[in-house]
Parts: sequence; C-alpha cells; structure tokens
Amino acid sequence: MKTINDFNFENQKALIRVDFNVPLNEDFEVTDATRIHAAKPTIIKVLEDGGSCVLMSHLGRPKGEVKEELSLRHIVAAVSDIIGVEVKFVSDCVGEEAEAAVASLEPGEVLLLENLRFYSQETKGDEAFAWQLSKLGDIYVNDAFGTAHRAHASTTVVAQYFDGNKCFGNLLAKEIESIKKVMETGEKPVLAILGGAKVSSKITIIENILDKVDHLIVGGGMTFTFIKAQGGNIGDSICEDDKMELALDIMKQAEAKGVKIHLPVDVKAANAFDNNAETQFLPVDQIPAGWQGLDAGPQSLELFKEVVLGSKTILWNGPLGVFEFENFANGTIELGNQIAEATENGAFSLVGGGDSVAAVKQFGFENKVSYVSTGGGAMLESLEGKTLPGIAAIL
Ligand code: AMP
Repeated sequence: MKTINDFNFENQKALIRVDFNVPLNEDFEVTDATRIHAAKPTIIKVLEDGGSCVLMSHLGRPKGEVKEELSLRHIVAAVSDIIGVEVKFVSDCVGEEAEAAVASLEPGEVLLLENLRFYSQETKGDEAFAWQLSKLGDIYVNDAFGTAHRAHASTTVVAQYFDGNKCFGNLLAKEIESIKKVMETGEKPVLAILGGAKVSSKITIIENILDKVDHLIVGGGMTFTFIKAQGGNIGDSICEDDKMELALDIMKQAEAKGVKIHLPVDVKAANAFDNNAETQFLPVDQIPAGWQGLDAGPQSLELFKEVVLGSKTILWNGPLGVFEFENFANGTIELGNQIAEATENGAFSLVGGGDSVAAVKQFGFENKVSYVSTGGGAMLESLEGKTLPGIAAIL
C-alpha cells in the first residue's frame, strides 16, 4: 500500500483528490470545516517536500451544470486560512485554463480547481475527462475517503494514467488502516456494536462481520425484529416482519461461528414516538400494545458494559436509541462512555458510518475513541466487505 510517505514531492505537482464537499450558509461561508482540516496533513507534507498541490473536489450535486452557488470559489478563503498558504483558484477543472494555471504553479503553492461535478463526465467515470484531469499533476494522490466507494473520474478512473506515481493521502491511509485493524488484524476479543433503525440496511454488514468478530451487540430499532422473531412482545416498537426469518438465521449462523450475540434485555419504552411521551422501563420482550422501545434500559447497559470493557477491538455503527430525542439519548451516551473507557484502557475503537458519527460528535466523544471515520457510505461498504473502487485503483 503506497502512501504519500513513500514519495518525495520535491519539484513535483501533486494532483490531490480531496473531499471539500463542505456545508455553506446563505452567505457562502463554510459552516463546518472538518473535511478541510482532515486534508491538511497531506497538503502540508507535499509542500514541505518542496512540491505543489493541485486540489480537486466536488461540492454538492450540480449534476453536470455550472451552478455559481456550488462554485468552490466560495471556500478559497477558508482553505487558505486552514492550510496557512494563499490558495489560488482556477474557474475550470480541465482544459486550457486549468492547464495554464497548473503550468505556472511554483513549489510551495496550492491551486484549487473548480467543482468537478460541473461536468457530468465526472460521476460517469468518463475516460477522456479523466485523461484531461491526469494532465494536471505528476503524482496522483487520493485523499477522499467519502467518495472512495464511487468509480468516478477523479476518484478512480484517473489513477490508471499514473502508473507507479499514485498513492493514498494521509487521511485515506488512516481510514484503510482503521478498517483493517477491525476486520483483519485487530487484537481479540473483537466486538462490533450495530445499532440504528433497521435490520435491512445493516444485513450485509452483519453477515460479513460474523466471520471477523467474537462479540456482536445488536441495539437500537434493529433489536425488535430479533426479539419478535424469538416470540417476544414488542408492542408498537419498530420492526421489520419480513426480516424475522433472517434474524433467526443470523442467530444460528452466529452460534455456528462461535460469535456471541448480545441483545438488550430491557428498554425505555414510550407511549408515543415523541421526546415528551410518557415513559417506563420494561423487559425487552414484554412491551404492551401502545408502547414502543426507544432506548436501551439500565440492565442492558450493565450487560453491554461488561462486553465493551472486555474487548480489545471495538467497532461502533449505529445508535442504541432515538438519540435525537434528549429523553432517549442515554443509552447511546452511556455506550459512548463505555467505549471511551475501553479505549483509555488500551482498546482500539473505530466509529463509522452514518448516525453514530453524528452522535459521537454531538456528545463529545470524538477525541475519546481511537478513530472516527469521515465517510458514511464508504465506511458501510467497507464493513460489508467490498473493495472500494477508489482504493482498488491505487492498489
Ligand atoms: P442508522 O442510520 O441505521 O444508523 O439509524 C439511525 C436511526 O435509528 C436514528 O435516527 C435513530 O433515531 C434510529 N433509532 C435508533 N433506535 C431506535 C428505536 N428503538 N426506534 C426507532 N428508531 C430508532
């Protein structure tokens, strides 16, 4: 696996695919610069070597049309600020103007290209467009994990024109290493915690992960499909009846593979899907009609704590309850605390994919776990066992 550390960028122009798909407010100011900060180490390494950076990214979904509100021009000041170098901008990402801007780039300079998705060829993975992009650098660096699961021109196709001169940026390398730690090289016992709303959206992950883990905690809304399948009463809790067979099959598979599945034993139930609903704690399999489980109960959290603290490698994907409602966030927060404690004791913890990342940020666990993934869809597909096209293109 080649990373930027395997190259000396002196007098080289690095064509770097970054993920600067950042949120803007109505004054076109960047409201969350996390992704720009995340790309900084790669950019700095190139500059410190004595090279220059040509940055390419998408912003939003312009669908092949030039849309002024989605111009990357708006973020130039923010990127300059964060990188600490006056960033140049060119209002096209291919063609004469872009090529001229690259040609005049000196070592130590940074150039940002216009939004790649102003061309529909980008998302189509068009070869001619990728070839045009490839003219804008000597070494291709992919540092955009968030789009690594897309076979787009700038994330995948362009790599074929950089035989030997292509590598992973710092961020993408860290993502790959974190996933590898959980899926392949992690110290045992390995624990996966899967929560969230539905079994159907996590099924491929569960099936893939059963071969990698020693323990699996199933939480959140997914719980109830498992409990009902085993004959429990779940009241009005969220459930996918057509996935009950599958839930039983997963339990059988887990047993055959020696994986211990842990389900909640009690819930905080509500008489409506509402933060201010009436609540009571109930056994997970004795929820009457008119009530629904919206968070893990205290006994479940005790049980989970033992498993979490006993694990050396932990993957967390999906909340344990409806954490968006303050009154049903406790299970998710407690689990975050447990993972933080395990991490402090030396475990490796990876949080990835969708809502658990939001929860981790909201409740301030970001710096208390080993790694928080930056790519939702890309992380989910990695956990499903797929080789992402953007990663394969470099390997
Ligand atoms: P996911 O995107 O699959 O990780 O699902 C996250 C969503 O699951 C969040 O919006 C949670 O509110 C929701 N969720 C978690 N637990 C429950 C539950 N017991 N009932 C309904 N929704 C839940």
